[in-house]
Amino acid sequence: MTLRTRYRRIKYKVKSAIALKRLQNDPSREKFTCPICEYSGVFLDFTPETGTRPHAQCPNCESLERHRVQWLTMTELRKEIDFKKLRVLHMAPEKFILERLRPLCHSYVTADIDGAGVDFAEDLTKLSFADASFDLVYCSHVLEHIRDDAAALREIRRVLAPGGIAVLPVPVFSDVTVEYPEPNWHEHGHVRAPGPDYSERYKKYFDSLRVYTSDNYDSRFQLYLYEDRTGWPNAKFPHRRPTAGTKHLDYLPICRVKV
Ligand SMILES: [Zn+2]
Repeated sequence: MTLRTRYRRIKYKVKSAIALKRLQNDPSREKFTCPICEYSGVFLDFTPETGTRPHAQCPNCESLERHRVQWLTMTELRKEIDFKKLRVLHMAPEKFILERLRPLCHSYVTADIDGAGVDFAEDLTKLSFADASFDLVYCSHVLEHIRDDAAALREIRRVLAPGGIAVLPVPVFSDVTVEYPEPNWHEHGHVRAPGPDYSERYKKYFDSLRVYTSDNYDSRFQLYLYEDRTGWPNAKFPHRRPTAGTKHLDYLPICRVKV
């Protein structure tokens, strides 16, 4: 970690601690339970460039809505699959998931496009791994950054063994998928705004698809995205579409290869 990153991290931690103290003193503030770290209490608001999302972040493990949906779904899958046998490839790994999933699995490889802090530098559209070398590919919030997502999906399918599983969530913040003419750096280089229809693309590459959503689990885990999407498009997000409502679902597509 560079000195600059460490400084920003400390600044963020102090800001979060102050915000948490303030929220804990508000008796009207709703309380939740984190299924990842088992913290119970108020959750923090999270403010990316798109605007504030109330109750988004667990103040203990820093998980966001999507991480909690993912962990609950992994817990569901563990009821039917022996994770001790799984060879896992985790692309762009999230620390909340990585730290808890790795000890449960047979083997665990991490990779990212730049190779920083992971086992391998890998381009998802041209993976260096052999065919059928993994049983589970975990790739969360990556495909929305890749223009040639068909190549990425082909590669994920290629490295999966028979019976393999691909965990492929993307952020869904549009009623229908919109391809951007250029990457938007206000949203970390997204090349599209996926809609719920996006996971239909997976059906071409995998034998089955099941999409889990926030609605599949208890609301005490706070799995919804509370976000005002009515102001899009705007100068920073010129290709997003306006969407009504302030409470939105998170989606988690699980794809399978037949045995
Ligand atoms: Zn937590």
